[in-house]
Amino acid sequence: MDRVIVVGGGLAGVRSVEALRAKGYEGELTLLSAEPHRPYDRPPLSKAVLLGDSDDTTVDADWAALRCELLLGERATGLAPAPAGGGTLRTTAGDLPFDGLVIATGATPVTLPGDGPQHVLRTIDDARRLRERLREGARIVIVGAGWIGAEVATAAAAKGCAVTVVEAADAPLANAIGTRIGAHTVPWYAEAGVTLRTGVKVAAVEHGGLALADGGRVDADEVVVGVGVRPELGWLEGSGVEIDGGVVVDESLRTNLPGVVAVGDCAAWWSRRYGRRMLVEHWDTALNAPEVAAAALLGQDAAYDAVPYFWSEQFGRMVQYAGHHPSAERLIYRGDPGADAQWAACWFTGDRLEAILTVDRPRDLVQARRIIAAGTPMDADAVADPAVPLRKA
Ligand code: FAD
Repeated sequence: MDRVIVVGGGLAGVRSVEALRAKGYEGELTLLSAEPHRPYDRPPLSKAVLLGDSDDTTVDADWAALRCELLLGERATGLAPAPAGGGTLRTTAGDLPFDGLVIATGATPVTLPGDGPQHVLRTIDDARRLRERLREGARIVIVGAGWIGAEVATAAAAKGCAVTVVEAADAPLANAIGTRIGAHTVPWYAEAGVTLRTGVKVAAVEHGGLALADGGRVDADEVVVGVGVRPELGWLEGSGVEIDGGVVVDESLRTNLPGVVAVGDCAAWWSRRYGRRMLVEHWDTALNAPEVAAAALLGQDAAYDAVPYFWSEQFGRMVQYAGHHPSAERLIYRGDPGADAQWAACWFTGDRLEAILTVDRPRDLVQARRIIAAGTPMDADAVADPAVPLRKA
């Protein structure tokens, strides 16, 4: 393999470049990215950057040592595979031949109908634009009480804005962790002075606010939409790359085309651990999956079999999650979410811990993550006592 192109300059893209070189790839290497910036980290955008505590989250990479050509501000527009493997990447910078390709084009925020202005938060430019508008007293209306919505609400409230969060589900975070657990975060909003309205459907973003499906209206100086993302894959249309929600990849992150792998927020990988396809839009996946994708591209054996992990910083709390809970049989609380500042929710099937959500209990998260990864049984009864460290049975 002599010519590898990485498409997408997010974390998964830069980690793919690093992993290819670390694994001994000596050929030409190009990273093409639609954004004009060198790869940067996104998690601080909704935290330190919005708060004004940081303005630059560029990933520390030595591009000269990596011998990687950076084509920034250029977009892949199509992919023409060659029958024997490799092919040609169509880009705004012209056609680029390749014999290995990493698809790492991430995801793009979903927007709402309507001709009023709406902020989304995906790029450093989005974050800087929004930060300018978080002035004291400004009426900031956020659509979506998911991870991003809650973090934007945190920053906006800290800046003295009058913040309203409008959520279609019956509780914050309902899509991610279910209504029951999400409901425990409701008081956090009021404590921060944020108005939370659940069960409210938005019809359109208008000038000066939201039109609601029930005919009501919410006035706003700025509308921020945080209702989810979709993988950025339009450029692959007609390429023959199999797509089903994300780019369909096997457990080694290989697509159906030889010499083409996919990683990060755009890849739907086969998980041996869960016996299903997973599309996980988490920083940890973008960080670690590229090792496996690079190995696969170079013909080395590797499988991505991680326990999903993410964190979120909301209203002064560190919320962390590890595992995959949808098929779990029962839920055990560790601490009382209504009374304790620190608590955890543990999802079990039999004596196996499937997933954990922790609020300001980082040690629990670390221990649980190890136990989930190892699949070892636990003494489920002891888990309910927050004074007893989490351990195997
Ligand atoms: P991206 O970071 O989206 O990078 C993809 C890149 O590809 C982009 O630069 C894009 O412009 C480029 N691109 C797209 N299409 C093309 C094309 N056709 N041609 C060329 N380039 C293209 N995760 C957590 O676990 N915890 C957190 O606290 C957390 N906070 C977050 C806060 C924010 C505001 C955001 C946006 C995300 C957060 N995440 C968090 C999620 C995490 O940042 C993502 O999972 C991670 O960035 C995914 O990396 P990626 O490289 O796959 O995709």
